[in-house]
Amino acid sequence: MYFLPAKLDMTDGNETSHFVNPKTNGEIRIVARAVSRGISIGKVVCLYGSRRQFYRVYLQKTQIKGEVKRFRAAVHLAKLQLKEIGKQNSTFNETKINIFDAHLLMLEDDSLLSKIENVIEEKKVNAEWAVKIVTDTYVAKYKSIVDEYLRERYIDVEDITDRLLNALGGGKSKFLLEKNSVIVAKEIKPSTLLELTESAPKAIITEIGGWTSHSFILAREINLPAVTGVKGILRRVQTGDKVIVDGFNGQVILHPTENTIKKYKRQAAQFQQVKSQDPGTKQEKLTTLDGRRIIIRANVDFIDEHTSKKLSEASGIGLYRSEFLFNQYKGFPTEQEQIEAYRSIADVVGSRRAGIRTFDISPEQIAEVGQEKEKNPALGMRGIRLSISNLKHFRTQIRALLQASIKNNIDIILPMISDVSEIILTRKILEEEKQRLTKRKIRFGQTRLGAMIEVPAAILIIEEIAREVDFLSLGTNDLVQYLLAVDRDNGTVADWYKTLHPAVIRSIKKVLEAGENRKIPVIVCGEMAGSPVYAAILIGLGAVELSMNLNSIPRVKQTISGIAFEEASQISICLANCQSADEGEELVYKYFLKKWSHLFTPEILQSGKKQS
Ligand code: PEP
Ligand code: MG
Repeated sequence: MYFLPAKLDMTDGNETSHFVNPKTNGEIRIVARAVSRGISIGKVVCLYGSRRQFYRVYLQKTQIKGEVKRFRAAVHLAKLQLKEIGKQNSTFNETKINIFDAHLLMLEDDSLLSKIENVIEEKKVNAEWAVKIVTDTYVAKYKSIVDEYLRERYIDVEDITDRLLNALGGGKSKFLLEKNSVIVAKEIKPSTLLELTESAPKAIITEIGGWTSHSFILAREINLPAVTGVKGILRRVQTGDKVIVDGFNGQVILHPTENTIKKYKRQAAQFQQVKSQDPGTKQEKLTTLDGRRIIIRANVDFIDEHTSKKLSEASGIGLYRSEFLFNQYKGFPTEQEQIEAYRSIADVVGSRRAGIRTFDISPEQIAEVGQEKEKNPALGMRGIRLSISNLKHFRTQIRALLQASIKNNIDIILPMISDVSEIILTRKILEEEKQRLTKRKIRFGQTRLGAMIEVPAAILIIEEIAREVDFLSLGTNDLVQYLLAVDRDNGTVADWYKTLHPAVIRSIKKVLEAGENRKIPVIVCGEMAGSPVYAAILIGLGAVELSMNLNSIPRVKQTISGIAFEEASQISICLANCQSADEGEELVYKYFLKKWSHLFTPEILQSGKKQS
């Protein structure tokens, strides 16, 4: 059973005591990996938590009562969940009941609860922050106990903290960040980033993440400078510290001097100026020097004024990740909410097409508090697998897509396809839902159906897949991850995420050929398409349609209009015949530098190399 050792002094925590204060006035420069361009100067806001991320917010006097109420509601919810878990049968019944009873006792411990409420009231902070600083003191005290059994109880405190923080998430509190905030986190989830963008943060610094992590894809989409791979960053900073983020060179400068700030302000202004002169932004026909027509589409994860305006530079939307809606609604959006969202996508592209991907989520994203995490989420129940296992939700999404496609311009993209049967089943569902809508006299339009090619098995059966679909969508982010067995979100293996690996190049070639044989479009929509170097390689391999982040379009267009297809094709053939990724990288580096040095500046080439 759980109990609090009486001898321990559980005084209120000092919120800064959890950090190692750098205790220096001098600046500290940390070199890591740039994952979104730009320079920002601001103040650190530390983000904590795993499933539900949070940060410190100072409350107005008038908000305090409500915050205490929100905390009490979270305690109530957490208790209900524990009681529910206690009722479920399991082979470990006795142990389980003991553990959950112990957790329940903690949630009924008045001294713990009143400490948290006191922190909210006295320090005028949000409930999440109060929970953290109070439970941190408990954890620290437990960890210092000599008795092993008692010492290990800190895990229970962490567990209950997590539960409380998640329960607080259910309250959907909305706090705004202070001005000029630079988010610092171990890892940032797309849902958290989406939530925080409302306060217009200045930059992101994380410990974990890769070039193709969704949060950084999003950061590039909204022009938010980001640096990742900064080990132990949360131990080195405190909320409020001054910081500079250099998203060009992957540098983080803590406690910058006035001189450094001045220098970076100048650089940031220069970058703004160059950006405002971005070339080739109109939707004119794009061709290579030797006249090959190339179609550029946009990857869009949400629509706002800026994206709608910039969409005029693209021939429609190649990829809309509908799971971002899931983040927005903190769960499955209703049929009506989905219809509205998809309709606004279809409307904004007008006579062009909009590729909308069905939810590519994992159970972790939809997990109720307390549900077990998958050991390997990337290989687990996600994408089309989850849709097929939750047919009710899948049918709702299909119906919403059909009703939104009034202009007959929606392309449905199925993620993680590894077997033809998944496409055949979706076609059947599409037909059944059309019949249902017809019966109910509800208007709907026509859609095209495509498969996302991102799993090695799909490459091996690409001819069969191509026969079943109207188009193929090439997801190079996952394709590289799964082909090379390298976690795309894990910075420590970033050097193994080799986009120019012969296995990757040959796979891409095979998919493009399959599309050509069946006369169906192949839209390359991974991050590879948005890098000028890789875009040139893709064109050389035979790609005609590329879909990318709106901010990458001008640079990629400029590159494509400056290269000749025939020449790009020669290098791409050589690339496919390379023996290793290193050989491929050397070849690209030398060839492009020699041939089109005006297009591939060292900065562009370097960023291409870093992504690989
Ligand atoms: C991909 O895998 O390349 C892709 C475009 O999808 P996502 O990045 O969302 O996995
Ligand atoms: Mg993918």
